[in-house]
Amino acid sequence: MSVLSLPVATLGVPRIGPRRELKSALERYWSGKIDATALQEAATGLRAASWACQAARGVSVIPSNDFSLYDHVLDTAVMVGAVPAIYGWSGGAVPLDSYFAMARGSQGAETSCSCGHDASGVPALEMTKWFDTNYHYMVPEFQPGQSFSLASTKPIDEYREAAALGFATRPVLLGPVSFLKLGKSHDASFDRLTLLAGLMPTYIEVLRRLAANGAEWVQLDEPCLVLDLSDAERRALREAYGMIAYALPKLKIMLTSYFGGLGGNLETALALPVAGLHLDLVRAPEQLGDVLAKAPRGLVLSLGVIDGRNIWRADLDAILTRLEPVVGRRGADHLELAPSCSLLHVPVDLELETDIDPDLKRWLAFALQKMGELSVLGKALAQGRGAVRGELDDAAAAIASRRSSTKVHDAAVAARTAAVEPWMSWRANPYPERQTVQREALKLPQFPTTTIGSFPQTAEVRKARAAFAKGELGEDDYNAFLRRETEAAVKWQEDIGIDVLVHGEFERNDMVQYFGEQLAGYAFTKHGWVQSYGSRYVRPPIIFGDVSRPAPMTVAWSSFAQSLTSRPMKGMLTGPVTMLQWSFVRDDLPRAEVCRQIALALRDEVTDLEAAGLKVIQIDEPALREGLPLRRAEWRAYLDWAVDCFRLAAAGVRDGTQIHTHMCYAEFNDIIDSIGALDADVISIETSRSKMELLEAFALYHYPNEIGPGVYDIHSPRVPTTAEMIELLTKAARRLSPDQIWVNPDCGLKTRRWEEVRPALVNMMEAARQMRANR
Ligand code: GLN
Ligand code: ZN
Repeated sequence: MSVLSLPVATLGVPRIGPRRELKSALERYWSGKIDATALQEAATGLRAASWACQAARGVSVIPSNDFSLYDHVLDTAVMVGAVPAIYGWSGGAVPLDSYFAMARGSQGAETSCSCGHDASGVPALEMTKWFDTNYHYMVPEFQPGQSFSLASTKPIDEYREAAALGFATRPVLLGPVSFLKLGKSHDASFDRLTLLAGLMPTYIEVLRRLAANGAEWVQLDEPCLVLDLSDAERRALREAYGMIAYALPKLKIMLTSYFGGLGGNLETALALPVAGLHLDLVRAPEQLGDVLAKAPRGLVLSLGVIDGRNIWRADLDAILTRLEPVVGRRGADHLELAPSCSLLHVPVDLELETDIDPDLKRWLAFALQKMGELSVLGKALAQGRGAVRGELDDAAAAIASRRSSTKVHDAAVAARTAAVEPWMSWRANPYPERQTVQREALKLPQFPTTTIGSFPQTAEVRKARAAFAKGELGEDDYNAFLRRETEAAVKWQEDIGIDVLVHGEFERNDMVQYFGEQLAGYAFTKHGWVQSYGSRYVRPPIIFGDVSRPAPMTVAWSSFAQSLTSRPMKGMLTGPVTMLQWSFVRDDLPRAEVCRQIALALRDEVTDLEAAGLKVIQIDEPALREGLPLRRAEWRAYLDWAVDCFRLAAAGVRDGTQIHTHMCYAEFNDIIDSIGALDADVISIETSRSKMELLEAFALYHYPNEIGPGVYDIHSPRVPTTAEMIELLTKAARRLSPDQIWVNPDCGLKTRRWEEVRPALVNMMEAARQMRANR
């Protein structure tokens, strides 16, 4: 038999459109500029274009139902009628506006009152991170005894829509076990897996209708297979897939997992009655041997060999060298090629980047380019490498140029990281001694007050930055504007009596981008958008080369701000782990190594700030928790290097210089010992919405250093009262020593308006004063 190519799948593609068309359509719909029909037309157009584009790039296994107006987990909840009562749905198809109410909350008909509370509105579902990606899904809510029914025919509609255009697609559904596992219930002791039996008939109904409309294969995503699963969860997988096979013996299921290896779940996965199994061979290349040895003969293996999580061009020859023997052994007709996971997590099209350095561009591949790579591999494996000689040579030349480029490799950086010694991660003296010196130097009152860094990025601030970027505002005028904003912020903080001031971060576009733009080794795209949640997209920086700091990055602004006041001003930096975590990271060095390079660059900035007279320096690490690997066995190694990198950045200063860090809302329990090991003199954390419950981890751990548990929720426009904040502080003072406690908001204030920030901070200052008086 001679085939021209192995089948090539994408598993899912970006939904946002090459030029963020989905965002514009959604925002126009939400603001009432277009109606639902126009929104659906825009979505239909995007799907049609994406199917055609995949076909044109050589993709033969084209997905449908990977598209979503907001989020595919929300789509799944709506499909099975898992709609919480507050959204007022009572059967039938779930209306579009209920869908968006679940996604974003609704303001209700009345305008909100001045305190921001809205009696008639409903809150959105909770949102959380999709595995270890920066994509956020809407968390489905489940309750005991809940029933399910078909409440959206989206998968069938989109399958038919593609078929009408001539595309025989493989529909994608989030699998039932992962769906239940990703949800939550108000009663934490409730076992959501008990809902499986009631859920399966609705899944089977969807699958039956897909089959009746002609679908031969369906892709069921069970990413939970890469997590540590309990026996009960493994049993649930056997039950669910057993029921599907029993009800629909002819329908072929491609079971996918991604973001890691199957590990201890391999036997379970291989024993499921499915026709195909997808493997992430980028994160877990080592599992291929095991799978080949154990997989039943007829099982179609989908080989995820192109990185769906990163933007580097692949080493096609190396992949072929690994796969050719596999084809030889198993035959071409039971193999498929795919990215490691859906292409949702990479930008759409590299060709839109016309300003990027041409060398760097040659080393990159976005979603469309990755489809091209898969198609080249498919041809080479079916017809031999000679059939695609030109493409392979081109890829090989790009890989070789990246490997040897001086833009990537900086001998001085390599030498410096190699010379890092353990003592460099240690402050001169332990915390109690530092505390004495710092108290002497800073002379702060009890319950010292501060803020997390940024002040409102008002329309004027953003307008000035945009004008400066376009060249409409000269550098001198822009800087003069920023100086005025900073002066006003410093003056206001002095007026209300804040103890440790901030400069306000008016000069910063984004807490990672601002630093990335000043570091060697970082690059930025113009169109490299990736969905973060709903209509919010981000453009992660690309760390392509050895990172170093050509010049001080924040010293000028921080020392200017310090010159305006006799109170301590905080220098403000983004920490190495967060700089790494929110970027696309090079794949030719271990992440720990890249992080260490960033840490060294920041270490220089920290000591330069100290030399410039800053006595307090904050190194933000909001992403420390989210960098945790998916499997617990890998946590320790990650936490060890992450903590060490933070300490390396921080430890170059004298005892009297106070190092702060900040972390946003997170489950701190799991990592409390590592937070302690950071040994920051002061940490501020987000706790107000949890009513200080998150502080429990710190209390139980007997957290020894100082800590600022956020007393005011900055995500809401509501101005908290002094009494509320006193209540929170009193609660904190019962769990910790009052001498340890700082008073600050939950997080930075850049998304708030001055009209909200001013009264809130005035109330916060009053709360601190009363706490001091009542001691
Ligand atoms: N300094 C930053 C700010 O205030 C910290 C934000 C964060 O860690 N999320 O904006
Ligand atoms: Zn924060």
